[in-house]
Amino acid sequence: MSLMLSGTGVSRGIAIGKVRLLHEIQPRAVASHIPPGTEKQEVERVTAAMHAAIAELRQLQARLRDKVPAQIMTFLDSHLLMLEDETLSQPVIQLIEEKKYTSEWALARHRDRLVAMFEKIDDAYLRQRAEDVENVISKVLRKLDDTPAAEKESGRGYIVVTSNLAAADVLEHQHDGMRGLICSHGGTMSHAAIVARSLRIPAVTAVHPALDLLHEADEVIVDGSSGMVVAAPDKRSLQHYRKMRRSENQRQRDLKALAAKPARTRDRITINLQANVDSPADAGMARRLGAEGIGLYRSDSLFANRDDLPDEREQLAMYRRIVRAMQGRPVTLRTLDAPPAAFTADQPHHAGEAEPALGLRGIRLSLAHPELFEPQVRAMLRASSAGPVRILLPMVSNVTEVQLALTIIERIRLELLHKKRTIAADIPIGILIEVPGAALAARQLAGHADFFAIGSNDLTQYTLAAAREDDDVQHLYDPLHPAVLRLISEVITVGEKAGKPVVLCGELGSDPRVCRLLLGLGLRHFSVQPATLLEVKDSIRRSDVGSIKTRARRMLSSDSRARTERMLNRLIEDD
Ligand code: PEP
Ligand code: MG
Repeated sequence: MSLMLSGTGVSRGIAIGKVRLLHEIQPRAVASHIPPGTEKQEVERVTAAMHAAIAELRQLQARLRDKVPAQIMTFLDSHLLMLEDETLSQPVIQLIEEKKYTSEWALARHRDRLVAMFEKIDDAYLRQRAEDVENVISKVLRKLDDTPAAEKESGRGYIVVTSNLAAADVLEHQHDGMRGLICSHGGTMSHAAIVARSLRIPAVTAVHPALDLLHEADEVIVDGSSGMVVAAPDKRSLQHYRKMRRSENQRQRDLKALAAKPARTRDRITINLQANVDSPADAGMARRLGAEGIGLYRSDSLFANRDDLPDEREQLAMYRRIVRAMQGRPVTLRTLDAPPAAFTADQPHHAGEAEPALGLRGIRLSLAHPELFEPQVRAMLRASSAGPVRILLPMVSNVTEVQLALTIIERIRLELLHKKRTIAADIPIGILIEVPGAALAARQLAGHADFFAIGSNDLTQYTLAAAREDDDVQHLYDPLHPAVLRLISEVITVGEKAGKPVVLCGELGSDPRVCRLLLGLGLRHFSVQPATLLEVKDSIRRSDVGSIKTRARRMLSSDSRARTERMLNRLIEDD
């Protein structure tokens, strides 16, 4: 009899295959202590396992460089850094030498200590680091497990069922033939979910009983759109889902033809469709998909996973590569958002802030630390010699911050001109609206900016006081909450009246289901994930804005999530 389980659909599409269960390796099954006098061999054993894990990650990195979005490479970089760090290996070696633990026990004890330490800090970002520690140590534990892997009955085209999966493991399994993913834990922002989306692997998370109810080699269907999992499907379900999968595959093939077509609605409104990227390779990919520009380059990616800061020259080289990759289309460079680790390491009073999401970040960080902001502005202005550039200021909460930033940018511009540097005459400066107070003060801010960008990811977390990466409050993190939609609508209206373009660059704009609602609210500029660019374009081309305006506005007063969902479905169905 078939069994239906429901979870959160985090990566759309249908996958059908046999279950491959990935249980955590349990060190409890291994002896806890080593025989006396064997410490040296045991240290060698754990060190070899760590080296093997590092080598495996490096190989994966080399295989995938320039083939997957930069965000995914960042996950690999951070796991490598963690594995190579002595704070991971030294305490493990100490436990072996002093307490005579086996490698497995030492790793598990050290992992538990680190995870408990991160979780005590009660901060979503650091909780993510706890996820990294668990993933990295699982990898080393797997390397220690030298019993040959059991002959898998699931073959290729399998569906992984596990508690949660590290980014690197999603990539490895995809390479080995994984077609779908079911996790008993995790939400839309877990690493596994982010990677699955960008690789188009159908995935469902938070299927809590998955590990108890699904068995190795069971046939299973994953519906990443509805969040349903069907185990031991009967003939009719199989036929139904196979048909859905066929039409989805056909659709993906048809979408490719849209790359060269304009993003124009049925009632002939031309929409500006740009992409969010983290690297020159992403930019090249976006251009080939027909992106009309880069609406968001998060410069943070250049500062991440390293223990030094990129200087002006290094930044300039990177910004220029992105600008050149876009071959004349405009590129929006966002100034630093999160404080880089290399910076906080030298600022003990900033490290361990109670709530970094509400602390010194974005424009606040830039204004407080000209030594970070000024070289960055110089590099961004100079990059305009390679093609059109815009500068975007994140985390703005009041007019004064913008005025101060503009004064600094203008001073640097004059200094560069004085030194005879080539810079474009027109470099628009925009404000990222992601703080509710900034959205409500959009009217005042409009006079000080050339354009607005709406950061719906942070706007949602701050409006609803629900951290975007915290699984425990994912049910409250709702970008379609009428309060969030009202703020978005307000910014669009203000921008329109003031003649300032408004682009939405948060995840919300990358959801093709939501595109029509945003068009109805008046949005005319989108910056989306390259992975969904063509679907968003398709949705735009099927929309008639004139006929959806009133219904879109009604969603601003919805009184429940269920009602919002019904209204959204009606907007979408109406083709
Ligand atoms: C946002 O907050 O929506 C945004 C675009 O920026 P980030 O996701 O980098 O915070
Ligand atoms: Mg943001």
